[in-house]
Amino acid sequence: MRPLYNSAERIASAVENGEISAIELLDEIFERIKAVEPKINAFITLAEDKAYEKAKDIDQRVRKGLKVGRLAGVVVAVKDNICVKNVETTCGSKILKGYFPSYNATVIEKLDMEDAVIIGKTNMDEFAMGSTTEFSAYKTTRNPYDLERVPGGSSGGSAAAVASGEALLALGSDTGGSIRCPAAFCGVVGLKPTYGLVSRYGLIAYANSLEQIGPIARNVRDCALSLSVIAGYDPRDSTSLTVQPKDYLEDLNATYDLKGVRVGIIKEFLAEGVQESVASKVLDTIYSLEELDASIGEISLESLEYALAAYYVIAMSEASSNLARYDGLRYGLRVSDQGLNWGRAYAKNRRLGFGEEVKRRIILGTFALSAGYYEAYYLKALKVRTLVLMDFQRAFKEFDVLAGPSMPTVAFKIGEKMEDPLELYMCDVNTVPANLAGLPAISIPCGLSEGLPVGLQLIAPPMEESRLFKVSHSCESLGKWSFTLKP
Ligand code: GLN
Repeated sequence: MRPLYNSAERIASAVENGEISAIELLDEIFERIKAVEPKINAFITLAEDKAYEKAKDIDQRVRKGLKVGRLAGVVVAVKDNICVKNVETTCGSKILKGYFPSYNATVIEKLDMEDAVIIGKTNMDEFAMGSTTEFSAYKTTRNPYDLERVPGGSSGGSAAAVASGEALLALGSDTGGSIRCPAAFCGVVGLKPTYGLVSRYGLIAYANSLEQIGPIARNVRDCALSLSVIAGYDPRDSTSLTVQPKDYLEDLNATYDLKGVRVGIIKEFLAEGVQESVASKVLDTIYSLEELDASIGEISLESLEYALAAYYVIAMSEASSNLARYDGLRYGLRVSDQGLNWGRAYAKNRRLGFGEEVKRRIILGTFALSAGYYEAYYLKALKVRTLVLMDFQRAFKEFDVLAGPSMPTVAFKIGEKMEDPLELYMCDVNTVPANLAGLPAISIPCGLSEGLPVGLQLIAPPMEESRLFKVSHSCESLGKWSFTLKP
């Protein structure tokens, strides 16, 4: 078997039945990392010893005929804002340099219980603020399809690691598109689950009312398998939904018949600024679902015009509060504070610890929450958020899933959008609505435009991840896309 060319699902069963050992697989992955990582820069930290220890344990159990988990031996890369016990977790920021969490995030415990092998922590925009991974304090990750281009972000390292075969699966987090954007740019599948479906315990907060941890995978089935492992109620996350664990793969065994499934194209998702070649790939794929008897229509969600602005006000406001805890005393970086009173010592740590973009957002968020401006900005943004939710609720009376491009363009050149922050924010126009409304949304690759992947986004009502998987798996089954290792 050639492990690098197989799905996570196939690998797990091969490890379970002794066709390949977890150690052999890990050796192979490290070979691959040695070959491509100098070009890609997907990882901030590799956890080689920990990975080998886990792989050894799995192999021993297989040899003894003991039970192994659903992800036996599957190598997983984890975004660097998710806590892994005793592995440095920086959130892409200097301010957390040297922070080694004393506990595992719930998702990490769940992966471990199913015998996944965690290989390292992936590069990201600092505190998940960005769409290109260029705001990392550590390195610039490159797009495996074109090394001159960004991988998307903020979970750029995770998507690039999967696309380049440095991991079989990855975890990312998505506050306003950070899983779907890099998935689209790197030609992989990425899911932002329903808000509350996956525990956020151990996820370092950026904007907690918007974000979810989710999987990035080579194909839809691997994505569904990963969600089956990480989803579920967690008493340690107060926003966690009380839902029974579910096997999302079960629904994917059927043959494809989408009779009765109504797919609605969101008109605003195809507005000005969407690259023509992107729109045409996406529309081609959506209309090809007619071959499977789906019915396709169009719908307008008028509130989406204000979604991006509302998102940035809310996200920055929450960030300004969430990031207040970084004082340089409790975690990570601590600069010399000799002779300084505590106020000055905090200020110095924060000045030297945070990057430009993070500071910009803390300042804007603090402004939006301050007396006299709160009503004009924060409160107004919350009202827009409600309107967006209501628009989606209305749309789901007419359609089962909503669709459009994940990103308005293909991956752009490194540095191209670093001058003007607003220009970069605009790229999130199609991804933020699902976060505002707490809805599940997936990005799947649907073809290439000038050699670069195009992502199709599908959005479903809350808790209808199965529906998303079914429709996206159908798209896959039409054979327009299959995963290939890059570079
Ligand atoms: N690009 C968006 C932002 O910068 C989304 C980031 C994310 O989902 N973490 O806020």
